[in-house]
Amino acid sequence: MKFEDYNISYEVKKGLDALGFKKPTDIQFKSIPPILKGEDVLAIAQTGTGKTAAFAIPILSILQEYKKNQSRDDGVKCLVMVPTHELAIQISEVFNKLGKYTRVTTYALFGGVEQDPQIKELNEGVDILVATPGRMFDLVSQGYLRLHRINTLILDEADHMLDLGFIKDIEDLVKKLPKSRQTLFFSATINDYIKSLAYSLVKNAIRIQISPKDPVSKNVTHSVMFIEMDDKRFFLERIVNEHPESKILVFVRTKVRAERVKAAMARVAIESETIHGDKEQASRLEVMKKFANGEIKLLIATDVSARGIDIPGVEYVVNYDLPDVSENYVHRVGRTGRGFNKGVAISFCSEEEKPILEEIETFLAKPIQVIGMDKRDYNSTIEFTADVDNDWKKLLKDAEKEEYKPKKRK
Ligand code: AMP
Repeated sequence: MKFEDYNISYEVKKGLDALGFKKPTDIQFKSIPPILKGEDVLAIAQTGTGKTAAFAIPILSILQEYKKNQSRDDGVKCLVMVPTHELAIQISEVFNKLGKYTRVTTYALFGGVEQDPQIKELNEGVDILVATPGRMFDLVSQGYLRLHRINTLILDEADHMLDLGFIKDIEDLVKKLPKSRQTLFFSATINDYIKSLAYSLVKNAIRIQISPKDPVSKNVTHSVMFIEMDDKRFFLERIVNEHPESKILVFVRTKVRAERVKAAMARVAIESETIHGDKEQASRLEVMKKFANGEIKLLIATDVSARGIDIPGVEYVVNYDLPDVSENYVHRVGRTGRGFNKGVAISFCSEEEKPILEEIETFLAKPIQVIGMDKRDYNSTIEFTADVDNDWKKLLKDAEKEEYKPKKRK
Protein backbone atom coordinates (compact mmCIF):
# COMPACT_ATOMS: atom_id res chain seq x y z
CA MET A 1 0.00 0.00 0.00
CA LYS A 2 1.24 3.47 -0.88
CA PHE A 3 0.78 6.67 1.11
CA GLU A 4 -1.42 8.07 -1.63
CA ASP A 5 -3.97 5.35 -0.80
CA TYR A 6 -4.11 6.28 2.89
CA ASN A 7 -6.99 8.07 4.46
CA ILE A 8 -4.86 11.00 5.58
CA SER A 9 -5.19 14.68 4.81
CA TYR A 10 -4.15 15.94 1.40
CA GLU A 11 -1.69 18.43 2.91
CA VAL A 12 0.18 15.67 4.77
CA LYS A 13 0.36 13.64 1.55
CA LYS A 14 1.97 16.65 -0.10
CA GLY A 15 4.52 16.76 2.73
CA LEU A 16 5.26 13.05 2.28
CA ASP A 17 5.69 13.57 -1.40
CA ALA A 18 8.13 16.44 -0.88
CA LEU A 19 10.25 14.20 1.37
CA GLY A 20 10.16 11.40 -1.19
CA PHE A 21 8.34 9.00 1.17
CA LYS A 22 6.22 6.79 -1.07
CA LYS A 23 5.31 3.75 0.97
CA PRO A 24 5.19 3.13 4.72
CA THR A 25 7.89 1.28 6.64
CA ASP A 26 6.74 -1.70 8.79
CA ILE A 27 6.16 0.39 11.88
CA GLN A 28 4.25 3.01 9.90
CA PHE A 29 2.12 0.37 8.21
CA LYS A 30 1.15 -1.02 11.61
CA SER A 31 0.80 2.21 13.61
CA ILE A 32 -0.89 4.71 11.30
CA PRO A 33 -4.37 3.08 11.10
CA PRO A 34 -4.88 2.63 14.88
CA ILE A 35 -3.51 6.09 15.66
CA LEU A 36 -5.88 7.61 13.11
CA LYS A 37 -8.74 5.80 14.87
CA GLY A 38 -7.72 7.38 18.18
CA GLU A 39 -6.50 4.18 19.81
CA ASP A 40 -3.64 3.89 22.27
CA VAL A 41 -0.50 2.30 20.87
CA LEU A 42 2.39 0.56 22.58
CA ALA A 43 5.18 0.13 20.06
CA ILE A 44 8.52 -1.55 20.45
CA ALA A 45 10.62 -0.27 17.62
CA GLN A 46 14.20 0.84 17.23
CA THR A 47 15.18 4.20 15.86
CA GLY A 48 15.84 3.93 12.18
CA THR A 49 12.64 2.04 11.51
CA GLY A 50 10.76 5.24 10.64
CA LYS A 51 9.01 5.47 13.99
CA THR A 52 8.92 9.27 14.15
CA ALA A 53 6.87 9.50 10.99
CA ALA A 54 4.77 6.59 12.28
CA PHE A 55 3.23 8.94 14.83
CA ALA A 56 3.83 12.26 13.04
CA ILE A 57 1.84 11.34 9.92
CA PRO A 58 -1.46 10.43 11.64
CA ILE A 59 -1.22 13.16 14.30
CA LEU A 60 -0.58 15.85 11.70
CA SER A 61 -3.43 14.54 9.62
CA ILE A 62 -5.87 14.56 12.56
CA LEU A 63 -4.87 18.07 13.64
CA GLN A 64 -4.93 19.46 10.13
CA GLU A 65 -8.51 18.27 9.66
CA TYR A 66 -9.41 19.65 13.10
CA LYS A 67 -7.90 23.04 12.31
CA LYS A 68 -9.86 23.37 9.11
CA ASN A 69 -12.96 23.94 11.26
CA GLN A 70 -11.24 26.00 13.90
CA SER A 71 -10.79 29.72 13.55
CA ARG A 72 -8.87 30.51 16.72
CA ASP A 73 -5.90 28.94 18.40
CA ASP A 74 -6.80 26.84 21.41
CA GLY A 75 -3.51 25.68 22.92
CA VAL A 76 -1.22 22.68 22.74
CA LYS A 77 -3.10 19.56 21.62
CA CYS A 78 -0.32 17.05 21.30
CA LEU A 79 2.67 16.68 23.61
CA VAL A 80 5.67 14.60 22.59
CA MET A 81 7.95 13.88 25.56
CA VAL A 82 11.55 13.11 24.68
CA PRO A 83 14.69 12.48 26.74
CA THR A 84 17.16 14.88 25.06
CA HIS A 85 17.43 18.30 23.40
CA GLU A 86 18.76 16.75 20.25
CA LEU A 87 15.82 14.44 19.96
CA ALA A 88 13.40 17.31 20.59
CA ILE A 89 14.91 19.24 17.71
CA GLN A 90 15.05 16.24 15.44
CA ILE A 91 11.45 15.20 16.03
CA SER A 92 10.08 18.71 15.67
CA GLU A 93 11.92 18.93 12.36
CA VAL A 94 10.17 15.79 11.14
CA PHE A 95 6.80 17.27 12.15
CA ASN A 96 7.66 20.57 10.47
CA LYS A 97 8.80 18.93 7.25
CA LEU A 98 5.86 16.54 7.03
CA GLY A 99 3.49 19.31 8.07
CA LYS A 100 4.93 21.92 5.73
CA TYR A 101 1.68 22.29 3.80
CA THR A 102 -0.61 22.07 6.83
CA ARG A 103 -1.73 24.75 9.28
CA VAL A 104 -0.42 22.70 12.18
CA THR A 105 2.42 24.26 14.18
CA THR A 106 5.13 22.29 16.00
CA TYR A 107 7.66 23.62 18.46
CA ALA A 108 10.67 22.07 20.26
CA LEU A 109 11.00 23.08 23.90
CA PHE A 110 14.10 22.33 26.00
CA GLY A 111 16.27 23.80 28.72
CA GLY A 112 19.70 25.39 28.63
CA VAL A 113 18.48 28.34 26.56
CA GLU A 114 16.55 31.52 27.40
CA GLN A 115 12.91 30.97 28.15
CA ASP A 116 11.46 34.31 26.94
CA PRO A 117 11.56 33.49 23.21
CA GLN A 118 9.97 30.14 24.09
CA ILE A 119 7.13 31.84 25.97
CA LYS A 120 6.60 34.16 23.02
CA GLU A 121 6.42 31.20 20.66
CA LEU A 122 3.90 29.43 22.91
CA ASN A 123 1.77 32.57 23.05
CA GLU A 124 1.68 32.74 19.28
CA GLY A 125 0.08 29.31 19.21
CA VAL A 126 1.61 25.84 19.17
CA ASP A 127 -0.38 22.71 18.31
CA ILE A 128 2.32 20.09 18.83
CA LEU A 129 4.91 20.56 21.54
CA VAL A 130 8.00 18.37 21.52
CA ALA A 131 9.61 18.77 24.93
CA THR A 132 12.16 17.56 27.43
CA PRO A 133 10.68 17.34 30.94
CA GLY A 134 12.68 20.01 32.85
CA ARG A 135 11.83 23.17 30.90
CA MET A 136 8.32 21.98 30.24
CA PHE A 137 7.58 21.74 33.96
CA ASP A 138 9.24 25.12 34.58
CA LEU A 139 6.89 26.79 32.14
CA VAL A 140 3.87 24.92 33.48
CA SER A 141 4.63 25.99 37.05
CA GLN A 142 5.13 29.60 35.96
CA GLY A 143 1.77 29.48 34.22
CA TYR A 144 3.07 29.99 30.68
CA LEU A 145 2.12 26.56 29.47
CA ARG A 146 -1.25 24.90 29.95
CA LEU A 147 -1.75 21.23 29.40
CA HIS A 148 -5.51 20.92 29.77
CA ARG A 149 -6.23 20.75 26.03
CA ILE A 150 -3.79 18.00 25.27
CA ASN A 151 -5.56 15.05 23.78
CA THR A 152 -2.54 13.09 22.59
CA LEU A 153 0.51 12.24 24.68
CA ILE A 154 3.44 10.64 22.92
CA LEU A 155 6.33 9.17 24.91
CA ASP A 156 9.25 8.59 22.61
CA GLU A 157 12.34 6.58 23.60
CA ALA A 158 10.59 5.71 26.85
CA ASP A 159 13.39 3.32 27.82
CA HIS A 160 15.92 6.11 27.55
CA MET A 161 13.68 8.42 29.57
CA LEU A 162 13.72 5.84 32.35
CA ASP A 163 17.51 5.43 32.10
CA LEU A 164 17.85 9.16 32.63
CA GLY A 165 15.62 9.06 35.70
CA PHE A 166 12.56 10.78 34.23
CA ILE A 167 10.06 8.37 35.74
CA LYS A 168 8.81 10.82 38.37
CA ASP A 169 8.43 13.53 35.71
CA ILE A 170 6.31 11.23 33.60
CA GLU A 171 4.11 10.35 36.56
CA ASP A 172 3.70 14.03 37.52
CA LEU A 173 2.90 14.96 33.97
CA VAL A 174 0.20 12.37 33.56
CA LYS A 175 -1.61 13.76 36.60
CA LYS A 176 -1.84 17.13 34.86
CA LEU A 177 -3.24 15.81 31.58
CA PRO A 178 -6.90 15.23 30.72
CA LYS A 179 -7.91 11.65 31.58
CA SER A 180 -9.56 10.95 28.28
CA ARG A 181 -6.67 11.19 25.92
CA GLN A 182 -4.79 9.12 23.42
CA THR A 183 -1.40 7.81 24.57
CA LEU A 184 1.28 6.54 22.24
CA PHE A 185 4.20 4.80 23.90
CA PHE A 186 7.37 4.14 21.93
CA SER A 187 10.40 2.30 23.22
CA ALA A 188 13.36 0.63 21.52
CA THR A 189 13.64 -2.09 24.13
CA ILE A 190 11.28 -3.72 26.55
CA ASN A 191 11.71 -5.16 30.04
CA ASP A 192 9.33 -5.71 32.93
CA TYR A 193 9.83 -2.21 34.27
CA ILE A 194 9.05 -0.56 30.95
CA LYS A 195 6.08 -2.86 30.50
CA SER A 196 4.58 -1.84 33.81
CA LEU A 197 5.11 1.85 33.06
CA ALA A 198 3.56 1.40 29.65
CA TYR A 199 0.52 -0.39 30.99
CA SER A 200 0.01 2.29 33.61
CA LEU A 201 -0.23 4.87 30.84
CA VAL A 202 -2.07 3.22 27.96
CA LYS A 203 -5.56 1.75 27.86
CA ASN A 204 -6.35 -1.34 25.77
CA ALA A 205 -3.38 -0.45 23.66
CA ILE A 206 -2.66 -1.89 20.29
CA ARG A 207 0.70 -3.64 20.70
CA ILE A 208 3.12 -3.33 17.86
CA GLN A 209 6.48 -4.98 17.84
CA ILE A 210 8.91 -4.64 14.99
CA SER A 211 11.31 -7.52 14.33
CA PRO A 212 11.15 -8.82 17.91
CA LYS A 213 13.48 -11.74 17.20
CA ASP A 214 16.28 -9.61 15.86
CA PRO A 215 16.65 -6.23 17.51
CA VAL A 216 19.12 -5.14 14.83
CA SER A 217 17.39 -3.75 11.75
CA LYS A 218 17.49 -6.12 8.81
CA ASN A 219 18.98 -3.30 6.75
CA VAL A 220 22.21 -3.43 8.75
CA THR A 221 24.99 -5.93 8.05
CA HIS A 222 26.93 -6.15 11.29
CA SER A 223 30.09 -8.02 12.12
CA VAL A 224 33.01 -8.12 14.52
CA MET A 225 36.79 -8.13 14.08
CA PHE A 226 39.23 -9.25 16.74
CA ILE A 227 41.74 -6.46 17.15
CA GLU A 228 44.09 -5.69 19.98
CA MET A 229 43.33 -2.50 21.90
CA ASP A 230 46.48 -0.69 20.76
CA ASP A 231 45.97 -1.60 17.12
CA LYS A 232 42.42 -0.33 16.77
CA ARG A 233 43.44 3.05 15.38
CA PHE A 234 45.20 1.43 12.42
CA PHE A 235 42.09 -0.48 11.51
CA LEU A 236 39.95 2.64 11.76
CA GLU A 237 42.47 4.41 9.54
CA ARG A 238 42.16 1.59 7.04
CA ILE A 239 38.37 1.69 7.01
CA VAL A 240 38.36 5.46 6.51
CA ASN A 241 40.90 5.26 3.70
CA GLU A 242 39.02 2.46 1.98
CA HIS A 243 35.80 4.48 2.08
CA PRO A 244 36.87 8.08 1.60
CA GLU A 245 33.44 9.23 0.46
CA SER A 246 31.42 7.52 3.20
CA LYS A 247 30.01 9.01 6.33
CA ILE A 248 31.41 7.02 9.26
CA LEU A 249 30.19 7.19 12.84
CA VAL A 250 32.60 5.82 15.43
CA PHE A 251 31.58 4.91 18.97
CA VAL A 252 34.00 4.92 21.86
CA ARG A 253 33.52 4.23 25.55
CA THR A 254 34.57 7.54 27.10
CA LYS A 255 35.02 11.23 26.36
CA VAL A 256 38.77 10.88 26.84
CA ARG A 257 38.91 8.05 24.32
CA ALA A 258 36.93 10.14 21.85
CA GLU A 259 39.56 12.89 21.97
CA ARG A 260 42.36 10.34 21.78
CA VAL A 261 40.97 8.68 18.68
CA LYS A 262 40.51 12.10 17.10
CA ALA A 263 44.18 12.89 17.82
CA ALA A 264 45.29 9.53 16.41
CA MET A 265 43.34 10.22 13.22
CA ALA A 266 44.79 13.73 12.98
CA ARG A 267 48.27 12.20 13.04
CA VAL A 268 47.48 10.32 9.86
CA ALA A 269 45.86 13.39 8.25
CA ILE A 270 42.30 12.20 8.73
CA GLU A 271 39.95 14.94 9.79
CA SER A 272 37.31 14.12 12.36
CA GLU A 273 35.11 15.67 15.03
CA THR A 274 34.00 14.46 18.44
CA ILE A 275 30.70 14.67 20.23
CA HIS A 276 30.36 13.94 23.92
CA GLY A 277 28.90 15.21 27.16
CA ASP A 278 31.76 17.62 27.92
CA LYS A 279 30.92 19.72 24.91
CA GLU A 280 28.62 22.70 25.03
CA GLN A 281 25.16 22.17 23.62
CA ALA A 282 25.81 24.72 20.84
CA SER A 283 29.01 23.04 19.75
CA ARG A 284 27.33 19.62 19.78
CA LEU A 285 24.60 20.88 17.51
CA GLU A 286 27.18 22.53 15.24
CA VAL A 287 29.12 19.27 14.93
CA MET A 288 25.94 17.31 14.24
CA LYS A 289 25.00 19.79 11.54
CA LYS A 290 28.38 19.50 9.85
CA PHE A 291 28.22 15.73 9.96
CA ALA A 292 24.65 15.72 8.68
CA ASN A 293 25.50 17.90 5.68
CA GLY A 294 28.69 15.97 4.93
CA GLU A 295 31.21 18.68 5.82
CA ILE A 296 32.71 16.19 8.27
CA LYS A 297 32.88 12.58 7.20
CA LEU A 298 34.14 11.04 10.43
CA LEU A 299 32.39 11.60 13.74
CA ILE A 300 33.60 10.07 17.01
CA ALA A 301 30.89 9.80 19.63
CA THR A 302 30.08 8.45 23.06
CA ASP A 303 26.82 6.59 23.63
CA VAL A 304 24.95 9.27 25.52
CA SER A 305 25.62 12.03 23.04
CA ALA A 306 24.44 10.17 19.99
CA ARG A 307 21.50 8.18 21.26
CA GLY A 308 18.32 8.42 19.21
CA ILE A 309 19.86 10.82 16.77
CA ASP A 310 18.94 10.49 13.14
CA ILE A 311 21.80 11.50 10.89
CA PRO A 312 21.08 11.10 7.24
CA GLY A 313 23.31 8.88 5.18
CA VAL A 314 25.59 7.25 7.76
CA GLU A 315 27.00 4.33 5.80
CA TYR A 316 29.30 2.85 8.43
CA VAL A 317 29.11 2.53 12.17
CA VAL A 318 32.33 1.49 13.85
CA ASN A 319 32.20 0.24 17.42
CA TYR A 320 35.75 1.21 18.23
CA ASP A 321 35.05 0.05 21.76
CA LEU A 322 32.27 -2.36 22.55
CA PRO A 323 29.48 -0.79 24.61
CA ASP A 324 29.33 -1.60 28.33
CA VAL A 325 25.58 -2.02 28.14
CA SER A 326 24.48 -4.63 25.58
CA GLU A 327 21.38 -2.70 24.59
CA ASN A 328 23.54 0.15 23.39
CA TYR A 329 24.90 -2.14 20.69
CA VAL A 330 21.46 -2.06 19.10
CA HIS A 331 21.18 1.71 19.43
CA ARG A 332 24.62 2.25 17.97
CA VAL A 333 24.32 0.02 14.92
CA GLY A 334 20.86 1.49 14.39
CA ARG A 335 22.51 4.79 13.39
CA THR A 336 23.01 3.26 9.95
CA GLY A 337 20.60 1.44 7.63
CA ARG A 338 17.80 3.88 8.36
CA GLY A 339 14.45 3.95 6.58
CA PHE A 340 14.93 1.87 3.45
CA ASN A 341 18.71 2.40 3.30
CA LYS A 342 21.32 -0.29 3.83
CA GLY A 343 24.12 0.06 6.36
CA VAL A 344 27.26 -1.63 7.65
CA ALA A 345 28.39 -1.87 11.27
CA ILE A 346 31.79 -3.18 12.34
CA SER A 347 32.85 -3.81 15.92
CA PHE A 348 36.45 -3.95 17.11
CA CYS A 349 36.77 -6.47 19.90
CA SER A 350 40.00 -6.79 21.88
CA GLU A 351 40.95 -9.74 24.04
CA GLU A 352 39.72 -8.03 27.20
CA GLU A 353 36.39 -7.15 25.57
CA LYS A 354 35.49 -10.74 24.70
CA PRO A 355 33.23 -11.16 27.75
CA ILE A 356 31.30 -8.04 26.67
CA LEU A 357 30.91 -9.49 23.20
CA GLU A 358 29.46 -12.61 24.72
CA GLU A 359 26.92 -10.55 26.66
CA ILE A 360 25.91 -8.68 23.53
CA GLU A 361 25.44 -11.93 21.64
CA THR A 362 23.28 -13.26 24.48
CA PHE A 363 21.21 -10.08 24.31
CA LEU A 364 20.81 -10.46 20.53
CA ALA A 365 20.14 -14.17 20.98
CA LYS A 366 22.54 -14.94 18.16
CA PRO A 367 26.23 -14.71 17.35
CA ILE A 368 27.64 -11.74 15.46
CA GLN A 369 29.40 -12.66 12.27
CA VAL A 370 33.20 -12.64 12.65
CA ILE A 371 35.39 -11.11 9.97
CA GLY A 372 38.29 -13.53 9.84
CA MET A 373 41.72 -12.12 9.25
CA ASP A 374 45.00 -13.95 8.87
CA LYS A 375 48.13 -12.70 10.56
CA ARG A 376 49.55 -11.28 7.37
CA ASP A 377 46.48 -9.18 6.65
CA TYR A 378 46.39 -8.01 10.24
CA ASN A 379 50.04 -6.98 10.19
CA SER A 380 49.83 -5.29 6.82
CA THR A 381 47.05 -3.05 8.15
CA ILE A 382 49.39 -1.87 10.86
CA GLU A 383 52.28 -1.53 8.48
CA PHE A 384 50.37 0.65 6.04
CA THR A 385 49.58 3.31 8.55
CA ALA A 386 50.65 6.83 7.68
CA ASP A 387 51.50 7.39 11.32
CA VAL A 388 55.20 8.08 11.36
CA ASP A 389 55.29 7.87 15.12
CA ASN A 390 53.84 4.42 15.12
CA ASP A 391 55.68 2.68 17.92
CA TRP A 392 55.43 -0.66 16.22
CA LYS A 393 57.14 0.61 13.09
CA LYS A 394 59.71 2.44 15.11
CA LEU A 395 60.51 -0.70 17.02
CA LEU A 396 60.96 -2.58 13.78
CA LYS A 397 63.20 0.11 12.37
CA ASP A 398 65.26 0.18 15.53
CA ALA A 399 65.57 -3.57 15.40
CA GLU A 400 66.66 -3.39 11.77
CA LYS A 401 69.27 -0.76 12.57
CA GLU A 402 70.51 -2.92 15.35
CA GLU A 403 70.84 -5.89 13.02
CA TYR A 404 72.79 -3.99 10.38
CA LYS A 405 75.14 -2.33 12.80
CA PRO A 406 78.66 -3.42 12.07
CA LYS A 407 79.71 -5.78 14.78
CA LYS A 408 82.39 -4.45 17.02
CA ARG A 409 85.62 -6.26 16.77
CA LYS A 410 86.79 -7.81 19.86
P1 AMP B 1 13.32 7.25 12.56
O1 AMP B 1 13.24 5.81 12.93
O2 AMP B 1 12.06 7.97 12.81
O3 AMP B 1 14.49 7.93 13.19
O4 AMP B 1 13.52 7.34 10.96
C1 AMP B 1 14.62 6.82 10.30
C2 AMP B 1 14.83 7.36 8.90
O5 AMP B 1 13.90 6.80 8.00
C3 AMP B 1 14.69 8.86 8.75
O6 AMP B 1 15.87 9.33 8.12
C4 AMP B 1 13.50 9.06 7.87
O7 AMP B 1 13.69 10.17 7.02
C5 AMP B 1 13.42 7.77 7.09
N1 AMP B 1 12.04 7.36 6.75
C6 AMP B 1 11.00 7.28 7.61
N2 AMP B 1 9.88 6.86 6.99
C7 AMP B 1 10.21 6.66 5.69
C8 AMP B 1 9.48 6.21 4.54
N3 AMP B 1 8.20 5.88 4.61
N4 AMP B 1 10.15 6.15 3.39
C9 AMP B 1 11.46 6.47 3.33
N5 AMP B 1 12.20 6.88 4.36
C10 AMP B 1 11.60 6.98 5.54
